[in-house]
Amino acid sequence: MGSLHQVPGSGAGTTLLAVWAHPDDESYLGAGLMAAVANSGGRVISATAGLGERGTDDPLNNPPHWLASTRRHELEQALETLGADGPVVLGYPDGGCDRVPDRLGARRVGSLIEEFRPDVVLSFGPDGVTGHPDHQAVGRWTALAVAAQDRPPALVTTSAAAVWPDDIVERMHRVDAFFPGYPDDELCAGDVVVTLAGDALATKLAALRSHPSQIGPLVAELGEADYVRLAASEAYRPANIAASAWLSGCLLGVGEVALRLA
Ligand SMILES: [Zn+2]
Repeated sequence: MGSLHQVPGSGAGTTLLAVWAHPDDESYLGAGLMAAVANSGGRVISATAGLGERGTDDPLNNPPHWLASTRRHELEQALETLGADGPVVLGYPDGGCDRVPDRLGARRVGSLIEEFRPDVVLSFGPDGVTGHPDHQAVGRWTALAVAAQDRPPALVTTSAAAVWPDDIVERMHRVDAFFPGYPDDELCAGDVVVTLAGDALATKLAALRSHPSQIGPLVAELGEADYVRLAASEAYRPANIAASAWLSGCLLGVGEVALRLA
């Protein structure tokens, strides 16, 4: 049986470039698709705007230079688990992406597209899922960079929060997972909803657990069973015409994993 561990139509020869803001974004928001493309023989490259050096409630004991190094190591472990190359680190400060002019950020992402020539680019949509301004900025840069190409690759954005169970989202607010007013996402026609199971889910959980500096408060709030429920749900949106065709191709013959057009 097929599973999201392999995605027909996105196998050998396909290159996916994922563009995120911080270490762990890839594991929460894109792990299923990234691992599926890699397991199907494709190449996956993961880029991050920065290293999330301010991602702590205790900066005295986790100073930025130390946390940047720790999180880089965690990200390397996660990408190895997902079968992805990288990380490509763009070097922007944590919390500072929205102060970078969009045209400059887009130029950096555009240089990655020119270097790696991806068939598919995966990033945030305009909402940034959690409302984090870094996520929103990276989503804007990536959309601009893709649109500026003579032959734009498929652009797929994550709309994961749209499929996260309401009771879990409510408890995620208690650990400040979202900015005020978020998530505000809803599924749209053409969105692909993925429920990970089996090896695909195990791979995603292993990638998430590669980020011990980050996941503790959410695991404690949700408990193991609901943390797994959260991890199992992903949603992807085709953000240009090329992506609609590519995501539809992903649906062919996928087997027991629930994967459908909304
Ligand atoms: Zn993030």
